[in-house]
Amino acid sequence: MQNTKKKRITICLFIDAFGWEILKKNSFLDDVLKVKAPLETVFGYSSTCDPTILTGKLPREHGHFSFFYYNPPESPFRSCRLLAPLPSAITSRGRVRRVMSRLLQKFYGYTGYFQIYNMPFKHLHLFDYSEKKDLYMPGGINGGQPTVFDFLRKAGVPFAVSDWRKNEKHNIETLTQQLDEGKIEFAYLYLAEMDGILHAQGTNAKAVSDKIAWYDAQVRQLLAKAGEKYEEVRLHIFSDHGMADVRDTCPLMSLLDESKTGLKFGRDYTAVFDSTMARFWFHHEGVREKVIEAISGEKKGRILSDEELAEWGCDFEGKKYGELFFLMNPGVLLCPGFMGERPIAGMHGYAPTDANSTAMYASNVVLEKQPRRLTDLFCMMRSEAGV
Ligand SMILES: [Zn+2]
Repeated sequence: MQNTKKKRITICLFIDAFGWEILKKNSFLDDVLKVKAPLETVFGYSSTCDPTILTGKLPREHGHFSFFYYNPPESPFRSCRLLAPLPSAITSRGRVRRVMSRLLQKFYGYTGYFQIYNMPFKHLHLFDYSEKKDLYMPGGINGGQPTVFDFLRKAGVPFAVSDWRKNEKHNIETLTQQLDEGKIEFAYLYLAEMDGILHAQGTNAKAVSDKIAWYDAQVRQLLAKAGEKYEEVRLHIFSDHGMADVRDTCPLMSLLDESKTGLKFGRDYTAVFDSTMARFWFHHEGVREKVIEAISGEKKGRILSDEELAEWGCDFEGKKYGELFFLMNPGVLLCPGFMGERPIAGMHGYAPTDANSTAMYASNVVLEKQPRRLTDLFCMMRSEAGV
């Protein structure tokens, strides 16, 4: 019988927040993977890391960092100001905010990941949103760089990429079908549910090892299916960052209370209180010094120097994402903040040099040039796809 198998397929499997420290503690495809290694991440959240994976560029180059940045003239949230007088019993409800996010997204035709989180309605009109476009579609990167998918499209390589809006089961089933058809030569499988489990339960929860065991079984099935149709199946697994267990919280916002500092939010300064960092923009002379005075006594975090931000590739043009960054120590959650009011068990977005921030890379093949940093994945994927 004639051999109708295709020559080879490369499967790239992205698992959100499956960090090196978590991989080390759990058994995962031990007999399949020839390489398991730490992968240096970039400073930021998935909104920073994912564009780096897809383009090989540092944050300052691709222009993605956190979702919100100061830009009142072009804020898509001007209408939200009208909702500010509503009682917080209504505006703080997750459901209300999810509906609002959906309405705004539809109104502006945004195709990216769009969420207003816990951003206060009275301040939203000061901010613009950084991920308006779908990163996985052509033209999705703010800096205009092509992604690995653009290279695949241009070269005419048949490939599959998961829909990040769909759940893991759907994405795995879809890929299984595509492997069965045997037409694709490259696949990017997007799995994001572990991130949610780690945020909710921390890195030592049974749900985490259960999830890893589930991934193990799913990948084995995918490999078996691929093996029916392809002579060679090359598997590369990686994450964007790790996860730190939250052991403390820091109510940084309260240090900036107008009654203590005399500074008014929006008039004197504007800030975003992300889960692990506060970012400030100053509107008058002397405000910077007063803010520094107000927060520098807080020992659960520190002000990042411009040199450090530059070293991490986060020296953005025009200081777009903030003129001053205050970063929490690993394991300290800035809470309450604009991302959430209540503490959670796990968080990421601390110093990229912290062990728990480190991402991972694993493969069933040993490449001559192993990816060591998140920025290396782009070249690895292109080389594997031959584009
Ligand atoms: Zn996360």
